[in-house]
Amino acid sequence: MAEHPPFPSPKTRLYVDSPLAEGQAVGLDHERAHFLRHVLRLDKGDVVAVFNGRDGEWLAAIDGFGKGWCSLTVSAQRRPQQGEPDLWLLFAPIKRGRIDFIAEKASELGASRIWPVFTRRTDPNRVNTDRLRANAIEAAEQCERLTVPELSEPVPLDKALAGWPEERTLYLCAEAGHVRPIAEAMRARPRGPAAFLVGPEGGFQQSELDEICKLPFVVPVGLGPRILRADTAVVAALACWQALSGDWTAEDGDTRPPFRSPAV
Ligand code: SAH
Repeated sequence: MAEHPPFPSPKTRLYVDSPLAEGQAVGLDHERAHFLRHVLRLDKGDVVAVFNGRDGEWLAAIDGFGKGWCSLTVSAQRRPQQGEPDLWLLFAPIKRGRIDFIAEKASELGASRIWPVFTRRTDPNRVNTDRLRANAIEAAEQCERLTVPELSEPVPLDKALAGWPEERTLYLCAEAGHVRPIAEAMRARPRGPAAFLVGPEGGFQQSELDEICKLPFVVPVGLGPRILRADTAVVAALACWQALSGDWTAEDGDTRPPFRSPAV
């Protein structure tokens, strides 16, 4: 059973890229300083939660604001760092609004890596990974995970598959052909590092599907009888994986969300 953290949960959680330990000073850039001071109207002495993906979650008090900066002092650890599922998402970029949705939902659903890949029918030929990374960080802060997903630079699909780690199953979400339903296909595989591949709005070319399915680590899966939009398929596939073998399962200990004490 997960230990209940001894301290109340601040309403504001921030991902910071600096070491976290008692007494550690943390500087925030102008964007974060502006957000805390002028959007959240926080002041000197107010407490926020900070995490960096390595040292767990800590409480930190605002020391002060300056022109374009804010400094915090870290006080106490609220939650120790915990292991998280090893789950990658490869997806073909789709139109702007929906691609932001994919980055946000994949973060909430615990993806450890988000990797845009160009398939033969992928429409957008460029991806703003900085914007996707910002979406992923914001979602990680909101959903109280202790890491942020790695946002990998987009590559052609065949480059991503070349040198693929054999121990990582790649579940190919195939909208066409005779494929096993996802639950059945997953039950036939040993639990371990996993990845999902979701195609573009135009779908995979049949020749593309045939080539990918020849790879030893690829397992085609069906997501039901209806054709889902790519962003819907991402949510459906990641949710199934978490429910069947990720951290939504009882074997992995406490399945309740992190202890939510009344926000301070
Ligand atoms: N426009 C295409 C569908 C593309 S949907 C057509 O009408 O055929 C975008 C992606 O979502 C697909 O490439 C696939 O990866 C995934 N997907 C959608 N529905 C699915 C289903 N029922 N089973 C498995 N994958 C699905």
